[in-house]
Amino acid sequence: MPSHPSWGFRGIFQTRDIMKNHICYSIGTGENINFWDHPWHPEGTISNQISSASLQTNISKKTNLSRLLLNGIWDQMFDLPHLAVLKKTISSAIIRPGYSDKAIWKPCSNGIFTSKSAWNEVRIKAQKVPWCSTIWFSGNIPRHALTAWQAISNRLPTRDRLCSMGITTDQACLLCHSGLESVNHLFFNCAFSKWIWNFLLWRFNHRRKIGKTLCDEEAWVRNQFRGSSQYTIAMKVSFGAAIYCIWQERNSRLHSGTPTHKRDILHLIIDKIQTRIRFLHPHDNHSPRSLQFALHFNIPIHLKPNLTRTCSWIKPPVGVAKINTDASLFVNGASLGGLIRNPNSVLALFSIPASGDDITILELKAIDYGIFLAQEKALNRIWVESDSLNAVNIINSQVPCPWKALTLLDKIYVGLATFVDWKVTHVWREANSAADFLSKEDCPCKGDDIPPSSIPNPLKDIIATDSAGVPYTRT
Ligand SMILES: [Zn+2]
Repeated sequence: MPSHPSWGFRGIFQTRDIMKNHICYSIGTGENINFWDHPWHPEGTISNQISSASLQTNISKKTNLSRLLLNGIWDQMFDLPHLAVLKKTISSAIIRPGYSDKAIWKPCSNGIFTSKSAWNEVRIKAQKVPWCSTIWFSGNIPRHALTAWQAISNRLPTRDRLCSMGITTDQACLLCHSGLESVNHLFFNCAFSKWIWNFLLWRFNHRRKIGKTLCDEEAWVRNQFRGSSQYTIAMKVSFGAAIYCIWQERNSRLHSGTPTHKRDILHLIIDKIQTRIRFLHPHDNHSPRSLQFALHFNIPIHLKPNLTRTCSWIKPPVGVAKINTDASLFVNGASLGGLIRNPNSVLALFSIPASGDDITILELKAIDYGIFLAQEKALNRIWVESDSLNAVNIINSQVPCPWKALTLLDKIYVGLATFVDWKVTHVWREANSAADFLSKEDCPCKGDDIPPSSIPNPLKDIIATDSAGVPYTRT
């Protein structure tokens, strides 16, 4: 640390101990990682686990991991009897020979630090309030959400609150001049705001008696409008916009004394809803109530043709073996399945247990095993198909690889490089039914190289359907 650090730098420095718990290292050459003080070991820094004095070791304080690695394998350290305690967990450290050392931010699957994930790690998590989804949702207007949040948690400086604090004695409502101003009066029991809210509800085709409190109204909105349709988003935007615009009008009357007619406030709110919905383009719902709402708000609707989507298993070209793989996750474990076919016959099958609970990693493991089996069968050209778009995109470098899967991805690349030609593509789940069958927990045949002669009848049917190119209806 510099001798006169800035306030900001000192703040960053103070978080070091917290951050250490969320960082691990992907070890490449090991030249930049200190054996004792860097958190390269899965259990944390070595100096925290064991003291150098108690070890009587010749590994000095400045020793880097490169001194202890030989061709990407732990070398001298394994020979030190004092460090036997570390052996058990050392295998889970990520070693990638040929790469540079890299710090990995554990809370994010891509290993890259974000302030959002850091905040989620350190913040004190409270139970979600029921109104959370009505106010904080993607698509709401931030300043509306903020005012609605203040209103529903009774934090707006309404006159009843100011009176209780002794700041004012006048509690008269500035909108209707007949009631007493409080959150529940303003939203929406005041004659002025009730008129606006009733009109908005009518636009959504609802006529009802308005609740006594703002919480009643919020609960009604939450229960009536679920999901993420255009209709639901518009209603939730309306709820926030009504609170915001009514509160703005109240403030305007308090400070400048110029009133705006309730009809103009209503038009302002409707204008905000239309602008927001046109901007968002959420997926369209073609239910009658949704269409009616679009008509009432003059919102354009994009009608989608109702096409039945189909897919089928595509035969590989002559000379190419196709590998279909899949993974299943169940309560007490996971399993991998797959099969290798040429245009006319089945060459190999597998259905094996696996460990782990990350479905993308399991899908990658299934692909890896399929590649291994193809190597065993001395095949030259392969076409790998998986119904995990994420796994396929990772292999094709379309998306970043989760840090936990880096070693596995390297293994897959090494395997693929042994073939004359290869490709890895995505297949719809329905056209991957044979691999899906083999990956199931209750698959009747299990093994790491099941002979094609022992394929059970239900799987034979799937394979025959695939070979005939029969289209599957996608669900
Ligand atoms: Zn009023």
